[in-house]
Amino acid sequence: MSVFSDIDRAADNPETVALIESEKNRLGPRPDDIDLGLAYATELGLHIKLLYGTAESGKEDVVFYLIGSRLHTMRVAMELWRNVDKIPRSVFQRAMGRLFGYSEEDIADFIGSEVSETCPCTACGRNEIEAAATARRNHYHA
Ligand SMILES: [Zn+2]
Repeated sequence: MSVFSDIDRAADNPETVALIESEKNRLGPRPDDIDLGLAYATELGLHIKLLYGTAESGKEDVVFYLIGSRLHTMRVAMELWRNVDKIPRSVFQRAMGRLFGYSEEDIADFIGSEVSETCPCTACGRNEIEAAATARRNHYHA
């Protein structure tokens, strides 16, 4: 799926959002995709919010762009994102899958897959070991 089709889907359905991972899209064959995508979203009158999370590569504190037409829907997504470490992985994945506009069948298929269990990125629920380490670090510095 391209950045543009994700944005189109978020524009067509106010109950869904698109999420652009800056790392992933910059590494793609078209490095300008992310800038074009953001310009496109702005042209469509969509809202854009910055979020920070762990990339699919495992790199931390990477910028993600949350895009949507309805602020309420975006707030729900941001709330989930901020609490990713506190929500059971499959519950988080189901909620995010719905926000991204995937069908229940696709979500169920994904939750049963190996990626859903092992991908360290924030959008997949992060790595539990890493999340536990972060929680310990935060506790230590608190
Ligand atoms: Zn992932």
